[in-house]
Amino acid sequence: MSKNHLNFDHETKGWVDLIQPREPRPKLTSHIDTRWLVIGAGYTGLSCARRLAELNPGEKIVLLEAREVGQSASGRNSGYAVAHSHFSGGYQKNQLDHYERIDRINQTGLNSLKSIIDNNHIDCDYKESGIYHMAADQNSSLECDYFVDYLKKRSIEHTELSIDEIKAKLGTSWYQKGVKVKNGALVQPAKLVFGLADTLPNNVELYENSPVTAINLGKVNTIKTPNASVTALNVIMACNYEPIANGRHKQRVVGVTLSGSITRVLTEEEISLLGTESSWGVLSLHSGGATVRLTEDKRISIRNTAEYNSQSLLNNEQLIERQEIHRQAFDNRFPELSHVPFEHLYSGVEGVTGNKTNIFKRLSSNLYFAGCYNGSGITKGTAFGLAAADYACGNEEGLVDDCLSIEKPQWLPPKPILDIGAWYVTKQRFKGVGKDR
Ligand SMILES: Cc1cc2nc3c(=O)[nH]c(=O)nc-3n(C[C@H](O)[C@H](O)[C@H](O)COP(=O)(O)OP(=O)(O)OC[C@H]3O[C@@H](n4cnc5c(N)ncnc54)[C@H](O)[C@@H]3O)c2cc1C
Repeated sequence: MSKNHLNFDHETKGWVDLIQPREPRPKLTSHIDTRWLVIGAGYTGLSCARRLAELNPGEKIVLLEAREVGQSASGRNSGYAVAHSHFSGGYQKNQLDHYERIDRINQTGLNSLKSIIDNNHIDCDYKESGIYHMAADQNSSLECDYFVDYLKKRSIEHTELSIDEIKAKLGTSWYQKGVKVKNGALVQPAKLVFGLADTLPNNVELYENSPVTAINLGKVNTIKTPNASVTALNVIMACNYEPIANGRHKQRVVGVTLSGSITRVLTEEEISLLGTESSWGVLSLHSGGATVRLTEDKRISIRNTAEYNSQSLLNNEQLIERQEIHRQAFDNRFPELSHVPFEHLYSGVEGVTGNKTNIFKRLSSNLYFAGCYNGSGITKGTAFGLAAADYACGNEEGLVDDCLSIEKPQWLPPKPILDIGAWYVTKQRFKGVGKDR
């Protein structure tokens, strides 16, 4: 049995800083015997634990989280709950099954989130506002044409936007063209993940600050945490890019670090300089482009860096440097708001596979893994969590079949080649980004 490193960063910069703190659940301190163990309380693990609890109402579901809820990607993302993924390079007829499958998965996740939010009255600024996809430069403008063609061919409801229409709606002249996809929602990510964790069914036992340090596989799996152990018949790993000794699958994922800044709340006068939409979210049509939001509480958030930083958050010095890139992008888009200071600065790590697919796998007869969404995991993670629970309970149809049918992730080489490759590929993401950054 080898030991996992215990280097789980516990920093809370970003969206979590904007909201009321939450009391974490206690650590696991004594031995537990259970039929169901889920590792990781992000969107995937929370969704999986909730579904297992529904499917097994008389049983205990144990959910172990290494940090506190909200400290991982699920509390640090930009809050776009997408229904329709953007596939770069345009519509390819032979990919139709794939497009439809991915959208079914997204839609299942979106529907599930909406019903949990409604049923539990979770206050997370959920707004079914649709999502803007924008182009500021040449490469992304071409991508915009491809995307519009794709949306038309798939009869996905959308509105094309000219430079003047964008200015009227969002108050920026920076984008050349864009398209708004009607289906899709925006959320405050930290509020959402807090709400999901605090409304789990009674038969889910969530333990925070309880990292799994080792898994001994067997008919019954034995799991170690620093202060206790768990024996579990079935284990579902929902721990994204962070490997667990003995429980890991072959290297298929790396953590890529992103960073963003959020302004203070804008004044009435500043808001009047923006467009007619009261809150909105822009995704870039370039893979290295900025995601920009006007939030429900009237702040502007901007996220436009991505790098390989050994799967870790950025330190203060790195963050301050990255903020210059956020600032430039902000001033480009909103020159009349260039006096508005940023109040929050944060980073987050997303799980990325070599061929931009996700991982959904039974690793052994009673060990499962679901995760890695390449920067798009709110709806997909929720759906994968549902599917992992169903799969572990013996169901292989519908959503489970969709998740099993996605393209398999590529093998990645071990370190140090992994580090060099991940650094290079992440850098390539910005090739030709131009004004979209
Ligand atoms: C800056 C940023 C912006 C993003 N923007 C968006 C967006 O707008 N829309 C979107 O859909 N997606 C976005 N994403 C991606 C999205 O956040 C992730 O895909 C999603 O949060 C993944 O959820 P998860 O539950 O699989 O993983 P995570 O949220 O990473 O949760 C995994 C959990 O497992 C825990 N864990 C790991 N190892 C162990 C262990 N050994 N023992 C116990 N627990 C463990 C971790 O602490 C963590 O809490 C973004 C990501 C980042 C970083």
